[in-house]
Amino acid sequence: MRIYNVIGYGLIVVYALACMAFAPPALGPWAGLAVGAVYFVACWFVGGVYLSCVIHMGIAHRALDYKAWFVKAITIVNNTFGVYIDPVTWINRHRLHHRFSDHAGDPNKLASDGAWRTLVLCLFPYKTEINVANDDILKTWPFRLVSNPVFAVAASVFNIWLLSVLVHDLRFALVMWIVFRVFALWINMIQNYWTHDRRFGYRHHDDERDNAMNIGEWLPVTVTFSACLQNNHHHSPGLLRLSHKDSEYDFGFTAVKAMKALGLVQATRTGVEIPKEVPLTSLGF
Ligand SMILES: [Zn+2]
Repeated sequence: MRIYNVIGYGLIVVYALACMAFAPPALGPWAGLAVGAVYFVACWFVGGVYLSCVIHMGIAHRALDYKAWFVKAITIVNNTFGVYIDPVTWINRHRLHHRFSDHAGDPNKLASDGAWRTLVLCLFPYKTEINVANDDILKTWPFRLVSNPVFAVAASVFNIWLLSVLVHDLRFALVMWIVFRVFALWINMIQNYWTHDRRFGYRHHDDERDNAMNIGEWLPVTVTFSACLQNNHHHSPGLLRLSHKDSEYDFGFTAVKAMKALGLVQATRTGVEIPKEVPLTSLGF
């Protein structure tokens, strides 16, 4: 098993054991595990739809056209109740990441940066002076609100408090809150480190300009909503799906198709253009 899977599954086991060990006596270990599982799945699912499907493919790459109310609603919901990720600075860094992938100017990681350096960069990315996040939707009040640093602190204090009220125990709430965020950091490392190091994963496209790799196992693909298919994605960042073969497991695309069935999203003109090197006869969207 590759190191990233060992760490990912290991963190899930640690989270589960921590929920059982720190559950208040009134709950007991098994109900504590069930409560922890609900918090884990809810934060992962809302966070994945928010960041991978909506902010990443909808706004940063404009491959998908989501209903504006849905974009604003999930931005407020995720950043108030889940793992806080400033959408405006994230979109700016992500566009620069594609422009300068693995080279000077990439805020996430340079080719020479190792695992520990990249881990620090997940929390404190390289500074950038360039602003390429000028989209109109980022100037609307929900985005201005959540991208305010005061909101980031207040929302975190609020959702820890809310969690402690719901589970009647501050220590149990803090354990779930902190360990889930360590798991979220692992998801970030899949994106920023393991899929940008040629020792891991596989490639469909022999692009020399970057080190982007595809990681295709069940856990990383599911938790990242397919964003770990980085070689595919860097080759055709505007394409609305990240799998380039129908045989590639693509959880994120399944989620996007479900949102389309609910009337929340449609393709953009550029999102459906299949580059000639991509071996798909149809998008299936
Ligand atoms: Zn991207």
